[in-house]
Amino acid sequence: MSGSVTRTDGHSGDAWVALARQRIMRTYPDTDVVFASGHGSWLVDTDGVEWLDFLSGIAVVALGHAHPAVTRAVAEQAATLVHASNLFLTTPALELAERLAVLAGWPDARVFFAQCGATANEAAIKLARRHGKLQHRDKVRIVTLEGSFHGRTLATLEATGQAGKHAPFMPLAGFVDTVAHDDPTALTAAVGADTCAVLLEVVQGEGGVRPLDAQMLAGARAACDAHGALLMVDEVQTGVGRTGSWFAFQQTDIVPDVMTLAKALGNGLPIGACIARGPAADALQPGEHATTFGGNPVTAAAALAVLDVIESEGLLDSVATRAAQLRTGFADLAAATGMVLEVRGVGLLLGVVLAAPVAADVAQRCRAARLVVNAVAPDVLRLAPPLNVSIEEVDLALEILGTAIAEAFTAAGVPAPHATASRTS
Ligand SMILES: *Cc1c(COP(=O)(O)O)cnc(C)c1O
Repeated sequence: MSGSVTRTDGHSGDAWVALARQRIMRTYPDTDVVFASGHGSWLVDTDGVEWLDFLSGIAVVALGHAHPAVTRAVAEQAATLVHASNLFLTTPALELAERLAVLAGWPDARVFFAQCGATANEAAIKLARRHGKLQHRDKVRIVTLEGSFHGRTLATLEATGQAGKHAPFMPLAGFVDTVAHDDPTALTAAVGADTCAVLLEVVQGEGGVRPLDAQMLAGARAACDAHGALLMVDEVQTGVGRTGSWFAFQQTDIVPDVMTLAKALGNGLPIGACIARGPAADALQPGEHATTFGGNPVTAAAALAVLDVIESEGLLDSVATRAAQLRTGFADLAAATGMVLEVRGVGLLLGVVLAAPVAADVAQRCRAARLVVNAVAPDVLRLAPPLNVSIEEVDLALEILGTAIAEAFTAAGVPAPHATASRTS
């Protein structure tokens, strides 16, 4: 039995699914899909079937699967030096820190390298606490927004403005104040003398692909300035080109004191970063924070390759053109059927808002047609294809999505809104 599941030779996905159901903790949704390889915008399952990936491993594989430049960088670094600990220096992390400072436009930036989004945000929260406590002992509270997502460690879970995710773990530490994502007055009121930071996403990703409006961002910046708190932007999902700029804040009027990155930074290799400027960059002192794998040479080499490819392939520009192609496709669908209300988001982080709460069923129907997308709210589908997705791949995805949306409306017994209108008029 164990022999049959530990070797891939000639056996189908079923044995793997059985093993997963027995041996993997049940934290993730049950699935029967087992992927074995990938190339560009395509995943290949253990039966050899190709799937079009419009989620990119949840905004991670921004250059597509098995991008040769990343593969080469990882292989070369793995053959050179994999790990040396943070008691010593290694060059890939140093080069990467320099590159990130330049891309952010922050000449005085310092970087702490983590492994993922949660550990990057955890570093940011600790940094904010140290920065706050330099002013007074109780300046440790942070303000976050409803609908936000910042990770699953205890501190980042608490910072995540989704009560349902807190419930199984109550009580939490109680250092977070959460306000509505669209209420600048409430935000201003929540920031006070004991606030060390406001933590927010420029576009809430998991919370339904919801861009914050300019007033909210300006309000956060002003409240932080008024109270000596840090404005910290979680760019874990929006950063590294996803929105068409290196970082999403660069398309807004605000400049944060701290930003965090992860997801796309390593194109699938586990790396996160907490980047701070100004006095925040010096808030953490020797011995106050550390992690074994932070700045690991292999993951840093992967990230350097990612930044090189985004630059050399002009991907920030192609994000805008592919996003426009997708928006046009959905505008046509909206005009023809009324089943799509709105497409929100920035660049290639898009939320397709449906006129009925059938997003999960649409995602399931797309799966059956071998297109990967996911539902982030009952009525919202998230699309986050690779930044180098082709025109033809976008056309194919639009075709599959159009069919899946129509079928889901029919299955739910919801007439297409335009059909309703013509029947009643
Ligand atoms: C995914 C995500 C995180 C958590 O990242 P992990 O790598 O899963 O720990 C944090 N913030 C945002 C905005 C995210 O999208």
